[in-house]
Amino acid sequence: MRSFLLFALALACVGCETVPGTGRSQINFVSNSEVASMAAGEFAKMKKVPTDPRLAQIRRVGLSIVAVARKEDKNGVLPPANQWQFAVIDDKSPNAFAMPGGKIGFNVGMFPYASTDDDIAVILGHEVAHVLCQHSSERISQGLLVQLGAVAVDEATKNKSAQTRQAWMAGFGLGSQFGLLLPFSRSHESESDHLGLIFMARAGYNPEAAPAFWQRFAKAGGTKPPEFFSTHPADDTRVRQLQAWMPEAKAQAPKKP
Ligand SMILES: [Zn+2]
Repeated sequence: MRSFLLFALALACVGCETVPGTGRSQINFVSNSEVASMAAGEFAKMKKVPTDPRLAQIRRVGLSIVAVARKEDKNGVLPPANQWQFAVIDDKSPNAFAMPGGKIGFNVGMFPYASTDDDIAVILGHEVAHVLCQHSSERISQGLLVQLGAVAVDEATKNKSAQTRQAWMAGFGLGSQFGLLLPFSRSHESESDHLGLIFMARAGYNPEAAPAFWQRFAKAGGTKPPEFFSTHPADDTRVRQLQAWMPEAKAQAPKKP
């Protein structure tokens, strides 16, 4: 049983370039395939831990999220399950990401904060929703506009010079090493929180883990919040919204035999 709200959200998010009257229009002048190819290049360079025993857990939870998310993918943004790649990244900072084109990375340093299937489903549900909504393309477009001005954008998306790499990486939420970390906008975060909560519930995980994760993590920030929290502020609004969507998410959990 799909709620009208989710349907409306999916329309607003996935089809906002073509659906009139939603009020949410997306700046997007980089193609999904272009972003996917850039993401693949960055993913290939990352130092991975293929022997980490938790890789199987990331893959299992990730694939179950991808399976339900693909049912909402009217624009064909998410690759089929067998094309997704998963990695445990050899990086002690707590961060995790899903990239356009089907790349999911989970840093070694994220496990102390998220180790159960439910916790991992919170993060991957949210991140896969960002990919479904093409938020990276939108952020890259915004970043290039800010950095270079509209005139240079066309050239910048073609040659991907060192100068424009910053904007691309910030688009993936991975910009700290390039000195540019943009928080995801409130609208992106709300879309991804909402869809992510529904996805994890449909995939059979406990959605209550979502507000619990963000509350727990808000306390872990300290003076220099880690990258994931710089781009994903764990604030009261996020937790309040998640709690408000909880009944809707729980109603979509698979029926127990
Ligand atoms: Zn996010």
